[in-house]
Amino acid sequence: MRRVRAYRKRVVIAALLFMGASHALASPFCPPDFNNDDRLNFFDISAFIDAYLDEDPAADFNSDGDFDFFDISNYIQSYLDGCPDLTDSDNDRIPDFAETNDGRFIDLMHAGTDPLNPDTDNDGIPDGDELLGTIDNLDLPAMGANPLRRTIFVECDWFAGNFDGFETSYRPTDEVIAPIVDAFKHAPVPNPYDAPPGIDVFFDHGQGGAFTNGNQLPGAPLFIFFDFEFNILKDEHFEDNRNGYFHYAIFGFAYNDPENRSSGVAELPGDDFMVTLADYGTPQIMTNTIMHELGHNLNLEHGGDESLNWKPNYNSVMNYRYQFDGVDITLDAIGDGLPDYSLGVSIPLDETRVIESLGIDGNTPIDWDDDGEIRTDAYAANLNCRIGIGPCGDNSSVCWDDICEPLRDHDDWNAILWSRFETNVDRLPEPRLIECASPAWLDD
Ligand SMILES: [Zn+2]
Repeated sequence: MRRVRAYRKRVVIAALLFMGASHALASPFCPPDFNNDDRLNFFDISAFIDAYLDEDPAADFNSDGDFDFFDISNYIQSYLDGCPDLTDSDNDRIPDFAETNDGRFIDLMHAGTDPLNPDTDNDGIPDGDELLGTIDNLDLPAMGANPLRRTIFVECDWFAGNFDGFETSYRPTDEVIAPIVDAFKHAPVPNPYDAPPGIDVFFDHGQGGAFTNGNQLPGAPLFIFFDFEFNILKDEHFEDNRNGYFHYAIFGFAYNDPENRSSGVAELPGDDFMVTLADYGTPQIMTNTIMHELGHNLNLEHGGDESLNWKPNYNSVMNYRYQFDGVDITLDAIGDGLPDYSLGVSIPLDETRVIESLGIDGNTPIDWDDDGEIRTDAYAANLNCRIGIGPCGDNSSVCWDDICEPLRDHDDWNAILWSRFETNVDRLPEPRLIECASPAWLDD
C-alpha cells in the first residue's frame, strides 16, 4: 500500500513538473504536442487544460482571443488527429513536410526550404536556426534572419570619451551603417530558387528592437591589444549564444600601440575585427573601413585573392586605393565615395605595356602619366601606387612594389567564404590577422 501511494505521488509530481514547464511550449510542427516532447499523451492534455485555465495565449486554439468551448473542442480534435510525420532528413530541426522546397515561405508549416539541405541559402546559418531561433535562445527570426536569403550579423561595441584630449564617440551611427547595408542588399550574389540576388547584413550597434547588445565599452583607452585584450572584452560584452552567428567588432582610437594609425585589424577569415580611426573618423571613412574589415572576415585580401595592393583595376574597398575614397564609379581609377566590393569586371593591366586609351574598362581612356594627353604608344609604368605612377624597377616610397607586372581584378562578391565561422579563432585552425591602411596618408 505504501509503495502504491509513493508511486502515485511521483506520478503527480511528474505531471506537475510537466505542467509547470508546459506554458507556450507547444510544438510548432505538432500543435497538440503541448509539452513539445514529440509524443502525444495525457501530459499534453493536462498541460493544455492548465494553460487554458491560465488563459495562456498558446491555449487559444482557434486564435480568436477568447478562451471558450471552441478552443477545447479544437484541441481535442487536433489531439485525435495526431501529429504529422516529423521525419527531418537533413537534421535542421524543420521536419520534411514543412520544407516545401519551392522557395516560398508562407509560415512554419510551409517554409519553402530544401528538406535535403540543412542550410538552404548556403549562408552558414542552418535553416532551423533562421526559422526557429537557436537552441541557445538566440532569436534570429526576430533579427531578420531568412533561410531563403543570405544573412550576415555583426555586433559593434565602441569606446567613447576623452582620448588624450580628443573627445569623441566611436559608435557607428545609422548614417555610417546605411551605405553598407545598401551595398550588401544589391550584391550580385545569387540566392536559391531564383530569388533576387543580394545579402541581408544586420548590425547591432545598440539601436533598439532586437538589437540591444551593441554597447559602449568602459573607459577611453588610447589602444587595446588585438587580439589579447580584444578577447577579454569579447568574453565580457558578447553573449555566448552569438558565437558562430555574429561577427564581433570593437571601435576605438588605436590597437597595439597608441601611435599606430592603422585603420583596423581583422581575422582573415573569421569573425573578429577592430575599426580604429584615431581622429580621422569621418562617416565616409568609417563606413568604408567597416566594410573593409568585414571583408577580411569574409576572406577577402587587399588584392582580392592576393596581397598585391593599390591595383587601379581592382575596384573594391578591400584595396587601399579605394578604402577611404570609396570605389570608382567614373572609370578614372579615383574613388567616388561609396563602399562596394569588386564585381571583377575591369580589364587586366600589364604594367610593362600600359595603353592609356583602354583605361580600366577597355574603352574609357585614362591619362596615367598625367601629361595632359592620351598617349597612343604603349609604355612601361608602375601603376599600383598611392600617388601618381612610378618607374619600373625603382623602389618609390609611394608605390606598393618596384616591379612592373600584370595587375588583375577579382570578383569579390562571389568569393565570400560562407563557412567562415568554421575556421575562426573559436574553432581551429586559427585565421591570419591582417592590418590595414592608414588614414594619415590622406594628409599627404
Ligand atoms: Zn585590410
